[in-house]
Amino acid sequence: MTVREICNIIEEFAPLAYQEDYDNSGLLVGLPDATVNGILLSIDVTPDVIDDALKHGANLIVAHHPVIFGGIKRLIGKTYIERTIIKAIKNGIAIYCAHTNVDKIWNGVNMEIAKRLGLQELSMLSPANDQLVKLTTFVPHEQAQALRIAMFNAGAGQIGDYDQCSYNLEGKGTFRGSDNTNPFVGEQGVLHTEPETRIEVVVPKPILPQVIHAMLNAHPYEEVAYDIYPLLNQNPRSGLGMVGNLQKPENEMAFLKRVKQVFKAQCIRHTALTGKEIRRVAFCGGSGADLLSQAISVQADAFITADMKYHRFFDADGKILILDIGHFESEQFTVEIFYGLLTKKLPNFAVLKSKVNTNPIHYL
Ligand SMILES: [Zn+2]
Repeated sequence: MTVREICNIIEEFAPLAYQEDYDNSGLLVGLPDATVNGILLSIDVTPDVIDDALKHGANLIVAHHPVIFGGIKRLIGKTYIERTIIKAIKNGIAIYCAHTNVDKIWNGVNMEIAKRLGLQELSMLSPANDQLVKLTTFVPHEQAQALRIAMFNAGAGQIGDYDQCSYNLEGKGTFRGSDNTNPFVGEQGVLHTEPETRIEVVVPKPILPQVIHAMLNAHPYEEVAYDIYPLLNQNPRSGLGMVGNLQKPENEMAFLKRVKQVFKAQCIRHTALTGKEIRRVAFCGGSGADLLSQAISVQADAFITADMKYHRFFDADGKILILDIGHFESEQFTVEIFYGLLTKKLPNFAVLKSKVNTNPIHYL
């Protein structure tokens, strides 16, 4: 297995095109063609994590936070980032990071939180805009089913909890091939009319290249006619934060204590109790403070996130219970996503969770 092959497994699950503009997810250190002997998983990459990889004979680290985020102009060991990179390169260790792409996908960071808090009837708190397109193509009736399946398998046609969604219309296509053509049906230079099915599917833009690739491979025509329409719909399966409901309402103090225990948080900073029971919960792993107004507008009783500033707590204004549980604590289960994915795809491969606690924040 090469580094690139393992990156491909992760990117098929969480395409890099989902990441935010400011992000730097992907393979950050190491040669794509290097052979991987073992994989170590972590939230952050520090010199201690590199040591842990060496100890366990792992030469690929898969982490959540990109170790290289801003520009690096020199590598002289002055910062922990430079020391981490130097140590990794010296020891032939590759570093792959999957950050906001794993935050934004449906089965990503926030789904792990939802599972642990027992939240159901989930939806994205801030669904992604400008992310969906409608892809339409035209194919002889007999080949329509195989073409639909190929497009579905590449990820087209997902609407909410339904997959393999398409709309199909029967019609007639016309074409005339030049002397340079080798038409699947009809003859060169002769106007041909073919009974065709018009297939329409919805596709998230980040996976459009792979869907088009699958469509072109499965389509019988030499020259495939297809249209891509931008949609104004939000993508309900991708975005920032999530909101869901508890099966049974819980009083605020019981909820706070349960959250503290689930996330093994030593300290939760929270707003004054509102006196209401908690049933609807908005949450965003990592720095989700900017989603507070969305959490209030979807009528969440509580909002769990991290990195809330002092003045943000005032904005709760008795409408919602804010819980700042700590950045590391809120994202700790991200390692489980990588672990589940890689052990499923590579059952006989050494995939280890690092025991190094990289949380830079300590509590007294
Ligand atoms: Zn984070």
